[in-house]
Amino acid sequence: MIVMKFGGSSVASAAAIERVAGIVKSHIEVRPVVVVSAMGTTTDRLVEALQYASQGFAYSAWRRLEDLRRYHIQETQRLLGCHARKFIETHIAPKFQALHALLVEIEEGKKLTPELQDKVLSYGERLSSAIIAAAFERSGIHCCHVDATEVIITDEQHLGAAPIYSETYARLRRTVAKLARNRVVVMGGFIGATRNGIATTLGRGGSDLSASIVGAGISADEIQIWTDVDGMLTSDPRVFHGAYRLRSLGYDEAEEMARLGAKVLCPRTVQPAMRQGIPIVIRNARHPEGDGTRIGAQTPRPSTVKAIVSKTGMTTVHLFVTKLGMLPCVSTGLSDLFERNQVHVEMVQAQPDGVSFALESSPRLAELLQGVDRSVRITVQERTAVVSLIGDTINSDEAILKRALSAILNDSGVRMVSQGGSQKSLRFAVPESKLRVTVENLHREFFRSADPEIFASTPGSDRTLFTRRFARIATEAPANAHAVPVR
Ligand code: ADP
Ligand code: ASP
Ligand code: MG
Repeated sequence: MIVMKFGGSSVASAAAIERVAGIVKSHIEVRPVVVVSAMGTTTDRLVEALQYASQGFAYSAWRRLEDLRRYHIQETQRLLGCHARKFIETHIAPKFQALHALLVEIEEGKKLTPELQDKVLSYGERLSSAIIAAAFERSGIHCCHVDATEVIITDEQHLGAAPIYSETYARLRRTVAKLARNRVVVMGGFIGATRNGIATTLGRGGSDLSASIVGAGISADEIQIWTDVDGMLTSDPRVFHGAYRLRSLGYDEAEEMARLGAKVLCPRTVQPAMRQGIPIVIRNARHPEGDGTRIGAQTPRPSTVKAIVSKTGMTTVHLFVTKLGMLPCVSTGLSDLFERNQVHVEMVQAQPDGVSFALESSPRLAELLQGVDRSVRITVQERTAVVSLIGDTINSDEAILKRALSAILNDSGVRMVSQGGSQKSLRFAVPESKLRVTVENLHREFFRSADPEIFASTPGSDRTLFTRRFARIATEAPANAHAVPVR
């Protein structure tokens, strides 16, 4: 058995869903369990509708919902043809009626609790999974729909619930594993329910985690995450066009990439799969013939920079003390203050005369800093990006740090450097306006001679550099000439 998870962009239209049906058919002999995200950007639109409703903007909230209703109906009609009407009446219209009723309650003053938000957000995956199961059936795939809230049991931390593994695995074994013996199971990702049956969500991007939970629960042979890029890449293609695909990665490195900004994988996905040694494979639903990136227990070539990832929307706060003796107290006090107020600290760097923090930007920051002792001088820099180099044990290699700094110091306006946060990353805070040039410079420095055994070119990557390197290997070292060719 395998798990195949398809993200929002892979199921955004009838044509995309038909492509997915083709991919699933080509894996039918390995008995797939299919986990799907909400179609396209449905979750974002539901978040917007909730915001409008809670601010009393009834028309805007209704408009968002109406757009979503039309979109789901239109794609369903394209998929199901003459069978669409009945399906829409029984599976789509009632869900939009329920959503509308919830938004009206909010507009009329009902408190927008995390529980209520989860209830609304869960409809994205409820809709997509029902539509996709029906489309599969129509395309000749023998399949059944399983309601994720019946099998993924979580705690009550709405908007970021954690699965209760023992109970979830027992349910998955009892139902999904059995059904998957002779049909394709389709279920929504991202959603679960408490023991009392109240809908929860696993946090944004959480369908990847659902896939990993399902994979571990049914002891799958592989967990495939199908998305809109060729695999884990050496940098986000939206930031730098020209990244390479990683052929494989260790679980730890993949988790670090995800944690530090590679949106392609939700960071919590790695643990359930890793505990059972199940490989995770990232693949492109638009190029299903590609190999993708295989994530497993083996870390290929440690001490090598594997990727550059980044996060934006950060603020740097530098504190300068007049008496150095005050520093430990100020630094710990600040860390506690941020933690108590749920301001996420991304990086900390000790300075000769103070300490610097890179934080997720928060409108409450100014108010929080007001409380700091007046003898401490504070400077705040908004619109900061944190760029991280990823690779097992790279943080202990001084040469890598030196190379990175010399590649970026001239152009990047570096605000902070951190070498100590983890074994697997080196981090730099730079102004957001310098993000692109920083990533470009680092990419040139560390992937100028990318090793074809570890990296493969992608349609967007810089083939010239890569081919040149590959040619060099082929001429200088014939023993390496068997290295997998550049595609
Ligand atoms: P899905 O809807 O399939 O879950 P996501 O949008 O969550 O897809 O994740 C895919 C996106 O992740 C890509 O389009 C890409 O822009 C982004 N991304 C960020 N960093 C990386 C990286 N290092 N490798 C691949 N993709 C990345
Ligand atoms: N639909 C959810 C989101 O957009 C979950 C997911 O796509 O992974 O966050
Ligand atoms: Mg995702």
